[in-house]
Amino acid sequence: MGLYDTIVFPTPIPCEKCGKAIESTQTKAFGNFLKTYHIGDVIETPLVSGVLKESLYCDTCHNLEQFVYVVIFKGILIAIEKDEAAAHRAMHQFGKGDLYLFYIDLYKEKEEWRRKFRSLETLLESYIDYLKMSEDERSRLDSHPLGALQFFNIKECLEHTEIVAILECLLQKGSRGEGIFL
Ligand SMILES: [Zn+2]
Repeated sequence: MGLYDTIVFPTPIPCEKCGKAIESTQTKAFGNFLKTYHIGDVIETPLVSGVLKESLYCDTCHNLEQFVYVVIFKGILIAIEKDEAAAHRAMHQFGKGDLYLFYIDLYKEKEEWRRKFRSLETLLESYIDYLKMSEDERSRLDSHPLGALQFFNIKECLEHTEIVAILECLLQKGSRGEGIFL
């Protein structure tokens, strides 16, 4: 069984036949690591710069006779175009200004992950302290509205047995703005 990597489009591309919005395509041209790539990501591929033609599969009408052009500049996924000429233009016009914008986006993403990690670390540390408390201390904290709220998410997420599922649950709660600490 062959492995694929997934390339996610910055905006969905409508199927030429039925109009269904297609959000991504799969490729075997990269490292086949089952990775998911977005614009601005560094691709693990021997192809340093170039334009790749990939078929675009529609899972509604099963049309395979349409293509996208994936543009890679010095190992960075810089554009996805429906039109081959536009893909080559994107490759030749890519400059320092575009690279700067990618850098700013990545920097923001890095800061967001750093913040999430610190929040998780703080939450887990205080939860460990909570677990170490005596029964009396714990019930005193639980009876306080803020105290009970403090570990509400982690208690709910601990119903999941796998650590990855717990983390995903906490991150989801954080991204929906429900998180107390995440
Ligand atoms: Zn279709």
